[in-house]
Amino acid sequence: MTPMMTHYINVKEKYQDAIVFYRLGDFYEMFFEDAVEMSKALGLTLTGRDCGLEERAPMCGIPVKAKDNYIKKALELGYKIAICEQLTEASDKQGEMVERDVVRVITRGTIMEDAILDEKQNNFILSVYEKNKNFGLVWADITTGQLYATEILQDDDYKLLNETLIMISPTEVIVNQSFKDMSGDVSVIKNNEIPSLDVYMDYAFEKSRAEKLIKDQFKTITLNSLGIESSSLIVNAMGGLLEYLNQTQKRTLPQINAVKIVKTQNYMHIDNCARKNLELFQNSHDQGKRGSLLWLIDYTKTSMGARLLRKFLNEPLQNEKEINLRLNGVEELYKNIIKRDNILNELNQFADVERLCGKISYGNITPKECLALCGSLKKLPNIKNLLVDSKSKVLNSIYENIILQNEVVDLLENAISLDAPAIVGDGGIFKTGFSEELDSLRNIKSNGVTWLANLETQEKELTGIKNLKIGFNRVFGYYIEVTNSQKNLVPFRYQRKQTLTGAERYITPELKELENKILGAEENALKLEIKLFNQIREFLLTKVQQFQDTALYIAYLDTLCSLATVAVKNNYNKPKIVSSDEQLIIKDGRHPVVEILSKEQFVANDTTLNNTDSKTMIITGPNMAGKSTYMRQVALITLLAHIGSFVPAQSAQIPLTDRIFTRIGASDDLNYGQSTFMVEMVEVANILRNATEKSLILLDEIGRGTSTFDGLSIAWSVMEYLSNNLNAKTLFSTHYHELTELEGMLNGVKNYRITVKEFNGQIIFIRKIVRGGANKSFGIEVAGLAGLPEGIITRAKQLLKSLEQADINKNISLANVQNNVIEEKPKTNYAEIINILKEIDINKISPIEAFSLLNDLIQKINK
Ligand code: ADP
Repeated sequence: MTPMMTHYINVKEKYQDAIVFYRLGDFYEMFFEDAVEMSKALGLTLTGRDCGLEERAPMCGIPVKAKDNYIKKALELGYKIAICEQLTEASDKQGEMVERDVVRVITRGTIMEDAILDEKQNNFILSVYEKNKNFGLVWADITTGQLYATEILQDDDYKLLNETLIMISPTEVIVNQSFKDMSGDVSVIKNNEIPSLDVYMDYAFEKSRAEKLIKDQFKTITLNSLGIESSSLIVNAMGGLLEYLNQTQKRTLPQINAVKIVKTQNYMHIDNCARKNLELFQNSHDQGKRGSLLWLIDYTKTSMGARLLRKFLNEPLQNEKEINLRLNGVEELYKNIIKRDNILNELNQFADVERLCGKISYGNITPKECLALCGSLKKLPNIKNLLVDSKSKVLNSIYENIILQNEVVDLLENAISLDAPAIVGDGGIFKTGFSEELDSLRNIKSNGVTWLANLETQEKELTGIKNLKIGFNRVFGYYIEVTNSQKNLVPFRYQRKQTLTGAERYITPELKELENKILGAEENALKLEIKLFNQIREFLLTKVQQFQDTALYIAYLDTLCSLATVAVKNNYNKPKIVSSDEQLIIKDGRHPVVEILSKEQFVANDTTLNNTDSKTMIITGPNMAGKSTYMRQVALITLLAHIGSFVPAQSAQIPLTDRIFTRIGASDDLNYGQSTFMVEMVEVANILRNATEKSLILLDEIGRGTSTFDGLSIAWSVMEYLSNNLNAKTLFSTHYHELTELEGMLNGVKNYRITVKEFNGQIIFIRKIVRGGANKSFGIEVAGLAGLPEGIITRAKQLLKSLEQADINKNISLANVQNNVIEEKPKTNYAEIINILKEIDINKISPIEAFSLLNDLIQKINK
């Protein structure tokens, strides 16, 4: 094999689990199996290259300039990429090899490229260590340096583990072998809700090794200062993570300089199913951002703020004090328009300092990015000034924690030229006046033009050659060019360098001396610029921790401003947070997204729920009436309150809630081989297992995926279970209007219905929720609205009448129905009627409401 191929094979041997991108000039080339595989995966043309063997080596390549797109695609397909760079310049000498080595392995969780990353989302790599079903979890975003850790003990049914994994939403997971072995029982792993697990070498998780790595990383001599000394599981997991980062990144990562211990029990948990159903981060229509809750409330000005807002939504709080801290900050910004506008102005174009810190530490910050950093740091005094007289505790603490960086601003302002380039090697980074040495080298370069012009004039005079000119090319450097017609005038001291068809090119000792001076100065200036820029990087590195701290507070401010902005724009109000055993009371609540996206005027509705006599609302009403919307709005208002946001309601009292569960809509999960009904039952089972009396449960149409009686029975017994065993607040929508009989039979159950009006055999949606159950499903009328032919609708109505009149205790045959057998009238639900009458406050009810209520009651009795 050729020496280059032998070298390639050696490299590939060491990186067998990665695709090697082997740098050859302006291309990254892949060879052998890598080439065959990637040509298919990335749609590249497969060619060949002589490798010294009889057959050519399969090869394909990508231009270095276009690498990001290909890397992105390969990572999405699950590959890792080892970048093998040229470490020395190509040499002129025959047979001398350019030195090459792998400088970094890019994996899903260790991307540093802006073009591949989503700026509004953290990119977490997670390490999990398991021992005897106890877990240490450590996760990092190396672009910002954030590092978190938590420990989960004796989690027999993996409830907390599942919830924590979803909360972290990692893009890459490395684990010890023992975790992998038992992970089949962990549902989020079984259901592929997080990326597949990569087993990493066991020795990397070993305690003594881990401790050493941790001490090196944090430059500390004891683990006490990090607060993780007592958790050996965290130490193990962190060891694995740091080793993996060392192996793949091949450099120190000083941006990771602190660890935050997360107590996941302190957050409200929202499982994946509820995240999807409530469309928190993605819409369910095309998984895009538009239409999601995050999309709606994101008015952040900076990427850091956007990431923090996502974190807020991902980790709703459960502590009244902490929630109120945020709420009071939002309130101050909500009320003080001038303050808010001024802050927003300053935050506009505030750079992503968190990720710039990652780049400073990683060693790849560019001169242009230094300018952006400088521009943002320059805004800090103004931002601080705007916060100086704040009343709320949170704004005051932001004020106190923003560290001004005048020294850095002065340095960067003096140093970096306003049109600084995006790469380091080409010069043009520094302003004149920053370095005398650089200025004098640059002067030589620009003076060179005059010197050459003078020399040209002088030579013309001395030789009498009128059209003599001095030129430059890359191979021969500077030369004097004389056309053939004047050749006879060329003096003896001219030394011929190159012959062209119509001219000769010469050099003289004087010209050579000038050339050395000019070219030398240029080269030295470039070298000096690189050296000076590295010094600036080194200096910035000493400030990274301060930048990171300040960036966090800027992100916090941005997030609070965003919540204040959405509250003003969409007319939200401050919720009152109460303890979990108190009532949930929402007055004129709205669905935050539907009210913005729907063309229809949104109809606001009230909600009252508690843990005693009103813990379950059975909501009936025809399809399309607004049941799901109503239930979701209660969940979203509850959730928004827990992140410290104002809510879309006239007023809201929200009890602290530990979990929100949903079972909404019928969605097939055919990918996992489960039918609608199966998915539904799995979700219900999960809810019944995990809900507590502090939970909020949304059950929409359960039992719809099977036969009517099966479904009805399941729905019924689930309701019974909820009522007898759990005191959770529950919203239960159903089109089985028979279930309304449960009011009076089960504790705490109350019937509600979403009103519609029938008019000329058609229905009109009123969308107001009122007490009492519906006594009709209106399915046929809705089918009519959907455009089923009139003949079918009329026939269906006839059949329905017959079915309703058939005896449900006997076998219903279609023949029975045809013959319109009338057996028995259904029983009236007197308990429900009595309850409704008891609740009427005769002093508050309007004549129209009284009339409508009376009409309903008569209909119920006549049913
Ligand atoms: P259901 O669950 O009863 O079938 P949905 O909640 O899906 O009905 O509501 C159907 C549509 O009606 C929604 O997409 C929305 O556009 C509209 N809608 C629902 N509730 C309201 C409301 N309170 N005000 C205005 N429009 C609403």
